[in-house]
Amino acid sequence: MTVDLDPEEFRRLGHAVVDWIADHRAGLDALPVQPGVDPGWVRARLPAELPEDPAPLDALLDTVDRVVVPASTLWQHPRFFGYFPANASLHSLLGDMLSGALGAQGMLWSTSPAATEVEQVLLDAFAAALGLDPAFTFAGRGGGCIQDSASSGALVALLAALHRAEPRWRETGVGGDERVYVTAETHSSLAKAVRVAGLGARSLRVVDAAPGSLGMDPDALAAALAADAAAGLRPVLVCPTVGTTGTGAIDPVRQVAEVAREHGVWVHVDAAWAGVAALCPEFRHLLDGVELADSLSTNPHKWLLTAFDASLLWVRDGAALPAALSITPEYLRNTASESGTVVDYRDWQVPLGRRFRALKLWAVVHGTGLSGLRSHIREHVALAAKLADRVRADPAFELAAEPSLALVCLRVVTGAGPDADDAASREVLTRVNASGTAFLTHTVAGGRYVIRVAIGAVTTGPEHVDQLWDRLRAEAAAMLHQRQGNSQPGSPRHLR
Ligand SMILES: *Cc1c(COP(=O)(O)O)cnc(C)c1O
Repeated sequence: MTVDLDPEEFRRLGHAVVDWIADHRAGLDALPVQPGVDPGWVRARLPAELPEDPAPLDALLDTVDRVVVPASTLWQHPRFFGYFPANASLHSLLGDMLSGALGAQGMLWSTSPAATEVEQVLLDAFAAALGLDPAFTFAGRGGGCIQDSASSGALVALLAALHRAEPRWRETGVGGDERVYVTAETHSSLAKAVRVAGLGARSLRVVDAAPGSLGMDPDALAAALAADAAAGLRPVLVCPTVGTTGTGAIDPVRQVAEVAREHGVWVHVDAAWAGVAALCPEFRHLLDGVELADSLSTNPHKWLLTAFDASLLWVRDGAALPAALSITPEYLRNTASESGTVVDYRDWQVPLGRRFRALKLWAVVHGTGLSGLRSHIREHVALAAKLADRVRADPAFELAAEPSLALVCLRVVTGAGPDADDAASREVLTRVNASGTAFLTHTVAGGRYVIRVAIGAVTTGPEHVDQLWDRLRAEAAAMLHQRQGNSQPGSPRHLR
C-alpha cells in the first residue's frame, strides 16, 4: 500500500499540470512582470496548518492561480530585463521531469553510473563547443561538473586553491595569512566563499581597476601579489570576471593569469553570465586566456535556456577538487571508487547528494542544437546593440557603459548635473517597474546610478525591447512634466 499516486492517476494529473504550464507560458505577455503585493500578502492567504487529509490537485492549482502567480515576479516574462535572465526553457523542464522520474542520487558513480557519465560527456562536449583548452576535459586530465550555482563553484575552487597552497590545510584549517584577489566589480559570491572558508574579510584584497576601465589592472595585481608575498602572506586565489554582474565589465584574463601564475596562485575565472556566449565563434575571444586559468565557471541557468540550477565548473586538474574535498566513511566505500577508474562527483562539491542535472541541459541542447543556442544569444546581443543605438541618439538618455553582450547600462539625462540625473534615473526605473509592463534593476558604477537592461529571457524578441524603450521614454517624459509643475503630459508649459 502506498500513499503515492498510482502511475495512471499520475498520468491524468500530470497532463493537467503540463496544461497549466503551457497556458501559463502562453499567457505571460498579458501579465504584469512584477506583482504589486505588500509583504505578508501571500502568508495572509495561506492556511497556517497543514492538511490532515488528502486534497485534490485542482485545489492546489487553484491556490497557485489565486495566490502564487499574482505574487510572483515573472522571470520567464518576455519583458523581464532585471538582474540577469534565469532562463527556464520548456525544453529544460522536460529534461528536469526525466531527472525527477529517475529520482537518482548521483553522489557516487556507483549510486547511478548514468548520472555521472552523462554529465562527464556533456561537460567535455560543452568544453569543446566553448573552445576551451582540452586540458579542461576528462580526456585531458581535467574535468567539469554541474554545480548548483556559480557561488558554490567559487567556493570549491577556493577550497582546492587552499589545498594546493598548503596541503596540511585539511588538518590544520586555514592559517589566516591567505589572500584572495578580486576587484570592486567582482560578484559578492567570492566574498561569501572567503567567509564560508573561514578566511575572514581581511583575506579579500580588492585590486584596482586599470585607469579608465572597470577591469582588473594586471599591474596593480602584480604589485599586490609582490607586496603580500614580501610581507609573508600567502596569495591563494585570483578571480578575474568575464562579464561582471553590475555592468558586464571584462577583466583581462590573460594578463591577470600570467601575473598570478608567477606566484603560483590559483586562477578562477567567473564567467557566470557571459561565458556561454563563447558558443558563438564571434564571442569566443571573451574566454581568451582562460587556457592559463585553473578553473572556470559559467551558468546555463542564466542565459542558456536551462532551468535553475545548472552552473558548469571546469578545472584543469581533475584531481584538485577530490584532493581538497574527499572524505570517505565506510558506508560509501565501493569497488568502483576504489578501482580509481570512475569519477565520484560528491568529491567535487560541498553536499553529498546530487541531482541528475545533466538531463535538463542535455534536453536543451538536444532540442535546440548548438545552432539554436547560438541564435538565442545572437538575437539578444543584436537587440542590445539596437537599444544602445537608440539611447545614444536620444538626448534624454545616455549610456552608462558600452553595452556588454546583451546588457545595456543607461541613465536619464536631465541637463541639471550628475546628482539630478541619478535621481531621475532612479525615479524612471521605479515608474517602469510600478507600471508592471517591464522589470528592470539597477546598480551603482563609478559612484553613479545605473539602470541595467539585461536582455535574455527565453521569449524576449524585438517587440518587447521596443515596448521597454517606449515605456522608458514615456516615463522619463511624464516625470519631467510632473516636475515642471503638474502640467498635463503633452502640453508644454508655455502653452498654459
Ligand atoms: C550571477 C553571477 C554569479 C552568481 O551566480 P549563482 O549561480 O547564482 O551563484 C556569480 N558571478 C557572476 C559574474 C554572476 O553574474
